[in-house]
Amino acid sequence: MSPPELVSYEPATGAELWRGPHGDAGAAVAAARSAFPAWATAPLDARLAIIERYRDLVRADAGAFANLIARETGKPRWDAAAEVGSVAAKVDISIEAYYARTGTRVGEVAAGRQAVRHKPHGVLGVLGPYNFPAHLPNGHIVPALIAGNTVVFKPSELTPAVAEHMAALWAKAGLPEGVLGVVQGAADEGRAVASHPGIDGLLFTGSATTGYALARAFADAPHKILALEMGGNNPLIVWACADVAAAAAIVVQSAYLSSGQRCTCARRLIVHEAAAPALIDAVDALIDRLIVAEPFADPAPFMGPVIDARAAARLEAAFDAMVAAGGKPIRRLARLPQGAAFVSPGLIETTGVDLPDEEHFGPLLRLIRVPDWDSAMHQANATRFGLAASLVGGDEALYRRFWTASRAGIVNWNRPTSGAASNAPFGGVGASGNHRPAAYYAADYCAWPVASVEADQPDATIAQGLRAA
Ligand code: NAD
Repeated sequence: MSPPELVSYEPATGAELWRGPHGDAGAAVAAARSAFPAWATAPLDARLAIIERYRDLVRADAGAFANLIARETGKPRWDAAAEVGSVAAKVDISIEAYYARTGTRVGEVAAGRQAVRHKPHGVLGVLGPYNFPAHLPNGHIVPALIAGNTVVFKPSELTPAVAEHMAALWAKAGLPEGVLGVVQGAADEGRAVASHPGIDGLLFTGSATTGYALARAFADAPHKILALEMGGNNPLIVWACADVAAAAAIVVQSAYLSSGQRCTCARRLIVHEAAAPALIDAVDALIDRLIVAEPFADPAPFMGPVIDARAAARLEAAFDAMVAAGGKPIRRLARLPQGAAFVSPGLIETTGVDLPDEEHFGPLLRLIRVPDWDSAMHQANATRFGLAASLVGGDEALYRRFWTASRAGIVNWNRPTSGAASNAPFGGVGASGNHRPAAYYAADYCAWPVASVEADQPDATIAQGLRAA
């Protein structure tokens, strides 16, 4: 049984931020089901008018929205403001993607025409993570609504207030009752949405553990769309790089941005053994200068706390386990006096240390020294995940080799692992996703194609195989 109320706390202060009842998945699915026919058959322009109004309301409300995200996640105010910008930008990108990926195509064929058009699935469940509590669910919701689906959204139990805020903006934009329902709660409510017979698909962003559980739960429902955006254990190779300061800055951005709570954050730094000492010194010096503070601090922090004290304890335990396994600490990941959810950026050398291939969702970077390029590439791909990978340094030919050999859906050069273009597909292979990339390609999983051959009049004869009349 779920507890009677869900409560969210500000990671930076521990203060209570939001309190409310757990949601009812059955009621939300029923409401979404009854809202579906009218929403799906409304003229596209009518749907888009509401969705564009939502975009404008997000922009008008950007300051308050960013403040709320910063308070509920602990991320720096500037980081939260960037998230709000992505939420608004998602609308135009998704409209463009809808036409480009799933629009209508009609061509002439002998005696008529052939057409490809798309239909919405029906009611789609959306399960969101806490690290981008607005941007990532929004990245499913907006394309789903454009395509004519109705949505039941179960946000992370750690960020219910952001979800309520988003839903209020949708309501203000004029979204009809039932088209977007919010079910507050944790794993129980997530399971209730995912297993509800009334949904036609599930769009998930979260950990691989949950994603695999959902894939198992959907094994008996191959007719339902299941899009899984999961975690990573992302490699960053620094190779033949003359600009050590720039490389160090990319390493720090990749590993510690948003307190390491981005699915694309680098977890493994792979470097030639001869180049390692200078790079370690440069990264170490930069870590010394990082401001770790509450979201609204002045001067602005580079990173805030992680999501809660439990996550901080888990990260500290993960670091200690790496030390116990033989890892050599370079920068200890430790709790900070700023508060129970604050940890320092961790850097640990684990060359030759056998560790489980797990994602540690926080500012924890492993360093692995290698003797040659083949070993570097081998290390980069030594993971069941396949979300993001970056090469820093080298030349175009080396980058081509890296791109060709990398098993990841996001492969960058001289940019952080966490850099992704908003108008590109976003997803990973292996344990990072099930070949249903989000962002620009989200349009693909929000609609199904119907192919038709059509003529205005029935005009047919049988040319062969008939007996004479
Ligand atoms: P999580 O898997 O713990 O939770 C995600 C959502 O699923 C939450 O709403 C949660 O309540 C729900 N849930 C949990 N267990 C469930 C179950 N058994 N059945 C149904 N629903 C369940 O993930 P998180 O900790 O909130 O988010 C961090 C994770 O998300 C990291 O692994 C990160 O890499 C990943 N992530 C991936 C992407 C991507 O696009 N690939 C983006 C952001 C975050």
